[in-house]
Amino acid sequence: MKSFEMALPRSVEEAVKLLPAEIGDDRARLLAGGQDLLTELKEHLVEPETLVNLKSIPGLRGVLEEGDLVRVGALTTLADLEAYAASGALEGCEGGMGMLLETLESIASPQIRSQATVGGNLNQRPRCWYYRMEQFPCLKKGGTECFSYYGKNRYNAILGGGPSYIVHPSDLAPAFIALDAEIELVGPGGARRMPLEEFFVLPSEGNPLRETRIAANEVLTAVLLPRAALTRRSVYLKFKERDAYDFALAAVALSVEFAGDGTFADVRLVLGGVAPTPWRCHRTEKKLLGREPGEDATVLAQEDALAEAQPLSENGYKIPLTKGLLAQALLRVQEVR
Ligand SMILES: Cc1cc2nc3c(=O)[nH]c(=O)nc-3n(C[C@H](O)[C@H](O)[C@H](O)COP(=O)(O)OP(=O)(O)OC[C@H]3O[C@@H](n4cnc5c(N)ncnc54)[C@H](O)[C@@H]3O)c2cc1C
Repeated sequence: MKSFEMALPRSVEEAVKLLPAEIGDDRARLLAGGQDLLTELKEHLVEPETLVNLKSIPGLRGVLEEGDLVRVGALTTLADLEAYAASGALEGCEGGMGMLLETLESIASPQIRSQATVGGNLNQRPRCWYYRMEQFPCLKKGGTECFSYYGKNRYNAILGGGPSYIVHPSDLAPAFIALDAEIELVGPGGARRMPLEEFFVLPSEGNPLRETRIAANEVLTAVLLPRAALTRRSVYLKFKERDAYDFALAAVALSVEFAGDGTFADVRLVLGGVAPTPWRCHRTEKKLLGREPGEDATVLAQEDALAEAQPLSENGYKIPLTKGLLAQALLRVQEVR
């Protein structure tokens, strides 16, 4: 690992000033829990001169109730959020909090969750092995091609791929999007807010070096969850190859509200582990509205959500896997409160 300086800013504004203005200029990088960034440094994937340690900034860690919103500070660890979700502190929000708890418990190990932060989780880099191995000059590292397209691709994207076929590794991202989360970003021009869904960008739509719309000199400071969304019935189902801990081969985040007659009145459906971004199924959500849960609705959702899937040579299994998770999610969401 190349040696680096550690900067300890006392405010987000100070941190912003220490960051480079251009994407691709890696002279300074933000450090949160270090669970992803340190691996990148060890593999020489990034070699910054300065790490800007967010932990020296007061006020970025913790969960606050602010009127109709729940504000999760970017430096809140996954363990902190897990404890908050399990505490039952938010009356009437058991649906959303239960889903967050399921999501958090599925991530890594308790040791990693005690260090990893919410902001770091949303900004973590892809796990594709061609990206992670120093010797492969892949598209994500400024090369000209995505080796997974012709190479080993069992963990890669079946939806939204091209020119890069990574899958976004965050489990929190699909769950938060299903709960209508917004994020707060602070840069040289001040703070801005955007729906978390819009934060992520497909490789065909943006710079294939990046997975999000964050500017090089912006800091994600908080995730904002509307209380109203947290009252919906919500579930997170994830399939991993190893039971101990692993990233998702496929995941389904589903948040719904039922009308008095038992039909779907509001639906948010987001897939994880299958696309370069969390994959929101807007069309499928609309098709479910006004229908009763049951076999017909399940088959419709399965066919519609995966209609555009284009598997690579080794990952066709993700289609039936995701359909199976979707069927389970549609059943379970009727049982949870
Ligand atoms: C073995 C292992 C298994 C894992 N399994 C899973 C899993 O199953 N599911 C899952 O979702 N995650 C998983 N993770 C990821 C983990 O949960 C962490 O969220 C992730 O490593 C990054 O969090 P961090 O706080 O350590 O961030 P860091 O490593 O400090 O930073 C990660 C990246 O985000 C940037 N960054 C950090 N904070 C901010 C911010 N506030 N604003 C802007 N940029 C920021 C950094 O510059 C860096 O590029 C796993 C990690 C490991 C090591």
